[in-house]
Amino acid sequence: YQAKESGETYQFYRPEMNAATAKRLNLENRLRRALERHEFTLAYQPQVDFRSGRITGVEALVRWLDPEEGVILPGTFIPLAEETGLILPLGRWVLEQACAQTKRWHEQGFKHLKVAVNLSMVQFHQKDLLEMVQEILQRTRLEPRFLELELTESAVMRNPGTAIRILSELRDAGIQIALDDFGIGHSSLNYLKQLPVDRVKIDRSFIRNMPVDSADVAIVTAIVTLAHHLRLRVLAEGVETDAQRDALRSIGCDEYQGYVFSRPVDPGDLVPLLQQCLHAPRDLS
Ligand code: C2E
Ligand code: MG
Ligand code: MG
Ligand code: MG
Repeated sequence: YQAKESGETYQFYRPEMNAATAKRLNLENRLRRALERHEFTLAYQPQVDFRSGRITGVEALVRWLDPEEGVILPGTFIPLAEETGLILPLGRWVLEQACAQTKRWHEQGFKHLKVAVNLSMVQFHQKDLLEMVQEILQRTRLEPRFLELELTESAVMRNPGTAIRILSELRDAGIQIALDDFGIGHSSLNYLKQLPVDRVKIDRSFIRNMPVDSADVAIVTAIVTLAHHLRLRVLAEGVETDAQRDALRSIGCDEYQGYVFSRPVDPGDLVPLLQQCLHAPRDLS
């Protein structure tokens, strides 16, 4: 046996270890190193209001800039970061970066811009979550109402009682909450009624075949109607075409996010988009 130290745990390489395990271990070690070397960056995707055509917020999306492999998307490393606990320091870094950047945009005159940050279930259940978030807001001097935390519907529904308590604390502190990937989890409508959230983000899978697939149109219409009755705002994710956007607008969806308006961009590339929207005579969307 050959042991190799990686952080506080020892991992053993065995001859019979399969390729998948070796690859995973390699990824874990690289992830740990990337965190120490600050190889992460955030891209921001605009969220557009249907009514005004303006960018009301941005979603922060983490990327790993690996010196050898280039840009690595979160789908590749977030699950492992969650399993290993590395999501806690990484998530804290993401939150701090996103808040600091948004404060900078405010100082550049885009005073109403909100930022949405994804929280994994592991972060959601960390004991000092509220304190950590509040400390970052104070340090970056961003008002809590400009921060929205995104939690997936499935993460929240795994333990609704606890979720309601944690979400209430965050909302009492002035932070906004969004239910991400809505519609694919197993949400009991009874809980949705009780959940202290501000908006739902309809999962991309329901948008993809709109408006051709009439079942998807019906589902999205039902979600929008229900959400509005519960006084929640609705954002559609993954909007790629004009036809999808038009259908969502006529259904009464409040906001959208997707390649049809913009891909996630570097912070510097957001400013022209923000300016374009500010000077838009009317509905740009
Ligand atoms: P999500 O929160 O549902 O984010 C939306 C994903 O859809 C992003 O993928 C975004 O780039 C992509 N997207 C946006 N518009 C379109 C479109 O029009 N078409 C298509 N096909 N895709 C679109 P990304 O950046 O690869 O992130 C994937 C997931 O990784 C996110 O899903 C989120 O669950 C997770 N994630 C990203 N950043 C973080 C983070 O900082 N912390 C945590 N815990 N999770 C994160
Ligand atoms: Mg999200
Ligand atoms: Mg989503
Ligand atoms: Mg998603």
